[in-house]
Amino acid sequence: MLSPKTYDVLLNRLNLGVIVVNSAFEVEFINHFIETQCQVNYSDSVQQPLFSLFSDLPEAWLKRKIQSVFVLGTPAFSNWEQRRHVFKMRHTRPVTTQSDYMVQNLSFLPLSQNSEVVQQVAIIIEDVTDTCFYQERLQDTLKTLEHTSQTDALTGIANRRFFEERFLYEFARAKKQQLELSLMMFDMDRFKSINDFYGHQAGDYILQEAAQLITQQMSRLDVFARYGGEEFCLILPQKNIMQAHQFAESVRQKIYAHDFVFDNRRIQTSISVGIAQLDEDSESFESLVTQADIALYQSKREGRNRTSCYKK
Ligand code: GH3
Ligand code: MG
Ligand code: MG
Repeated sequence: MLSPKTYDVLLNRLNLGVIVVNSAFEVEFINHFIETQCQVNYSDSVQQPLFSLFSDLPEAWLKRKIQSVFVLGTPAFSNWEQRRHVFKMRHTRPVTTQSDYMVQNLSFLPLSQNSEVVQQVAIIIEDVTDTCFYQERLQDTLKTLEHTSQTDALTGIANRRFFEERFLYEFARAKKQQLELSLMMFDMDRFKSINDFYGHQAGDYILQEAAQLITQQMSRLDVFARYGGEEFCLILPQKNIMQAHQFAESVRQKIYAHDFVFDNRRIQTSISVGIAQLDEDSESFESLVTQADIALYQSKREGRNRTSCYKK
């Protein structure tokens, strides 16, 4: 058997906060951790109402939590993901989090001596600031990774992987809800000559600038992606072929009229566009990509710098 003095040493050496309250929410015990973290001392704290000793407690919530332990006689818990902190304490960790306060997990344990009736509830406060910090960092990293895996590094717009995922989704949605949907694909005209004449960096700059110009023109629902090389695609939800054609022409004209300036040299470029629209015969999103591609190559064949619609 441990002596009461040993229990006392144990409780006070714990790197956890311990507060014991009775059913009238009066404090019956606080350990050394609470004394230092909350700048209160033991003798001034015992028999004080919990809610006057510690300011800013979420009183209604905490009362309900403690009362449930008195009534049910079983432990209760509160996780930092639900509530980052209950007792306002400055955290002592060298790491920084979004909050200045110690992030806490709380356990509420029923205490009874030789009886079925719960006489006190012990509130155990665990400092989980580090856990919270590393979890937040992990989440940020995962978000960045997710973004990177969906983004084209050169232009900053969506990449082909993201396009295919979204197009699969938009295709299924449009089919199911009988919504209009068009796909626009375009390819830079004679881009190899631009690279050869002005240099690869100039080519890169044109791809970036063109992506910017189109991003400014598209609507909120549209999805714009780099399909590969100097080929791009736009998912145009809720647009029929006429509307898609109108949009494609405005994009084509904008690119053609734009002064791309690299190394003080003005470069003119153009695009060839192909469009296809979803209809009742469209079997898969791949078939729509093929149709838009066929239309694109029709534009190339017919002289470039133009828009063609897929015809069966
Ligand atoms: P057209 O499409 O009009 O038939 O002629 P093109 O010269 O554009 O034809 P092609 O598709 O054969 O060539 C595409 C060129 O685009 C070749 C490749 O070097 C260039 N290209 C592809 N990706 C990039 C890139 O990321 N940066 C640069 N600068 N050039 C690229
Ligand atoms: Mg090309
Ligand atoms: Mg090409």
